[in-house]
Amino acid sequence: MKMHMMVFPFLLAALPMMANAAERQLGPHIHGQASVNMSVDGGLMDVQVSVPGHDAVGFEHPPASPRERSAVDRATATLTGAGWLVPASAAGCTLASAKVSPHGFGDAAEPGGHADFDAEYHYACRKVAELDHVDVRLASAFPAVRKVVVDIITASGSNQQDLEGSATRVDVRQ
Ligand SMILES: [Zn+2]
Repeated sequence: MKMHMMVFPFLLAALPMMANAAERQLGPHIHGQASVNMSVDGGLMDVQVSVPGHDAVGFEHPPASPRERSAVDRATATLTGAGWLVPASAAGCTLASAKVSPHGFGDAAEPGGHADFDAEYHYACRKVAELDHVDVRLASAFPAVRKVVVDIITASGSNQQDLEGSATRVDVRQ
């Protein structure tokens, strides 16, 4: 924990440089904790997620072996598949696009720095009025994730919901 607190001043100082990557940092980088942003607007649901490399693959540096390389590929595929995110079935949501961005696993990664998997999804929902919940199963996809902090925005306002243990249900109040 102490190490992470020390990282923050650097991150804050680096923010202007990261202006084009606003989607990169969704909340603080804390091992064991994933961050999710959800917004529901009209028939569209947008979701962004950030999972620490520590939780997704067990390391935060460029892959140094074939085993580490395939771990990064597997985590990327798991996120791309979006199976961890299950909107209420009555809402008829279909995944329109998924983009996964591993950060800190490339050759340019800072030695000793942290690494994340960020992903962004767009869904189209035929009956969005039926979207009363979304199940977030990140802790099943990545067992090292012990807590998921979900920020959700709908026409009726925004709120934050924390999922711990085996909890997956995020209430959507439209
Ligand atoms: Zn880390």
